[in-house]
Amino acid sequence: MEARVNTPTCLVLWDVDHTLISTGGVGREAFSEAFRRATGLELVEMADPSGLTEGDIFRKTAASHGIANAEALFPAFADSLAQAYESRIDQLRSRGAVLPGASAALRSVGRLPRTVQGVLTGNLREVARVKLTAFDLEGFVEWRLSAFAEDGSERAELVAAARARACAVTGNSYHGSRTVLIGDTINDVQTALKTEAAVIAVATGHFSAADLHAAGAEHVLTSLDDPRFVGMLNDLLTSA
Ligand SMILES: [Mg+2]
Repeated sequence: MEARVNTPTCLVLWDVDHTLISTGGVGREAFSEAFRRATGLELVEMADPSGLTEGDIFRKTAASHGIANAEALFPAFADSLAQAYESRIDQLRSRGAVLPGASAALRSVGRLPRTVQGVLTGNLREVARVKLTAFDLEGFVEWRLSAFAEDGSERAELVAAARARACAVTGNSYHGSRTVLIGDTINDVQTALKTEAAVIAVATGHFSAADLHAAGAEHVLTSLDDPRFVGMLNDLLTSA
């Protein structure tokens, strides 16, 4: 398809958990409830969710509880998880938080010329929607070119899905560093390297700035509140 001159040429994809928001423990409680409903077992220990898609978190957690048919149980788990979040939206608001600088960063990206932003998250679509809605962030992102747990197990598959959607919507291609991922985990950084996307890593999750640098991120901030954020993103986008 021929590129349309007035449509966005750069795609910014935001991770959700520990990049834009934190759930303050509500996420773990929702997981626990959905796990019990889908498997009939009490959750003993949840797999480390950092950078994983919901399907992988469920499969790993199920395996550690001796459950063999995780794949068959996943649709019921996914439905229960979406309901568990929906019913906790007030809890999310009171116990969770928008991370420092996240709203302003989304607003700034929204003002950049020829740039479009979406989310790229291991969350289920409905869960991501509840999380961003709880904190009034849902209007900043283009949901039709975002990617979620439903789009694959590996995060790289999610990048491919978001790029394909953005191309279908705008007619432009978002190969290489025309796509910028923003995330907090080593997995986010590795996904960018694997898909040849650019990346800005933010050390607002469980990984330090040194960890994220060591994983291969050239651009690392300790928080989205860092005034260098927009300049850094602009440099990446203009060199794309
Ligand atoms: Mg994250």
